[in-house]
Amino acid sequence: MRFVDAHTHLELFAFRDVPLEKARSVEDVRNMILSLPKEVVLGWGWREESLGTSLEREHLEDIPKAVLLLRMDAHVGVVNGRLIDTIGLEKSDKFDPERGYLYEEELWRVASLLKPKGNDMAKAIMKGLREAASMGVVEIHDFVDGDLAEVYAGLEDIPVSVVLMPYYEDHERVVDVVRRSKRFRLGWVKIFVDGSIGARTAYLKEPYEDTSSRGLLLKNYREIASAVEELESKGLRVALHAIGDGAVEECLRAFEVVRPKLPYHRIEHAELITRDQALRAKELRLLLCMQPNFTPFFRETYLKALGRERGSRINPIGMLDELGVDMIFGSDMMPFDPMYGFNYAKSILGERKAKYYYGGWRDEGRYL
Ligand SMILES: [Zn+2]
Repeated sequence: MRFVDAHTHLELFAFRDVPLEKARSVEDVRNMILSLPKEVVLGWGWREESLGTSLEREHLEDIPKAVLLLRMDAHVGVVNGRLIDTIGLEKSDKFDPERGYLYEEELWRVASLLKPKGNDMAKAIMKGLREAASMGVVEIHDFVDGDLAEVYAGLEDIPVSVVLMPYYEDHERVVDVVRRSKRFRLGWVKIFVDGSIGARTAYLKEPYEDTSSRGLLLKNYREIASAVEELESKGLRVALHAIGDGAVEECLRAFEVVRPKLPYHRIEHAELITRDQALRAKELRLLLCMQPNFTPFFRETYLKALGRERGSRINPIGMLDELGVDMIFGSDMMPFDPMYGFNYAKSILGERKAKYYYGGWRDEGRYL
């Protein structure tokens, strides 16, 4: 099999001081951190399903190191008091000091203050690229800021083909690096429209099953529309992170206002897209980047957060295929092994179509 993984964050390989994905209890997490000879511990990959509980500040408070542990979806992370003091974090709607929870932009701000730079980051990225190649991945679409694009530009012997996906805030720097280095293809520019279901920040039309909230809308349709216009004027396309049906609605409204000239602007995830929204996406010539792996991986989270009805129509790759909406698949590294999602996609779409979408339409020309 030759896979195209159209949605990766290889910089998360730099947040692997401890193998959190292997922890089966809070005690495991604590032991991993305590046995590590480091003053600042960065981890990524915990989730309630494997720990049997959520991970909270109180579980980490007596550990004499500064700790930041990102949940697997990287939309929420937990910190302890020592880290709060080191950085000087203040309570806000994106930081809950009681639980030690950082959300969305505030989490990314803190994570980028702490993440390794230069050579250490280069090593982490190479590790990710080699792991991808060893699993049959031939091309990745990786999200980067300007610093990370510079790290890529300095790498040698890259084992897979790389499409760099700039974050909107930093896209000009990334475009510049790609044009100078001439070794990478430039992908879509990423804008976050909402958060994630696990963190209850994906923006829904109706409230979550277990809270009265509908999640967080990070950009409304007017803001999205003006970003799309700006990017199109530079010949660039957008990748909108939109998980909830409410967020997908904002994206579609934005495109309906702008009427994009370029085909294949992307929506990332579109986990709760409805049939009606899917038809509008098709009409707008959008490309949906779906994660079939999420359905089996987050089954319990979906049921708890969304209830049975919404939980059962999540990541609707069968419906999208039937309607003829253009899709590509990407792991979002949950988990990274493409066979996991491929096997699920095969059970819904059959082997031939699963290969087609996971192969980035290799038999049939390109979307880039
Ligand atoms: Zn992602």
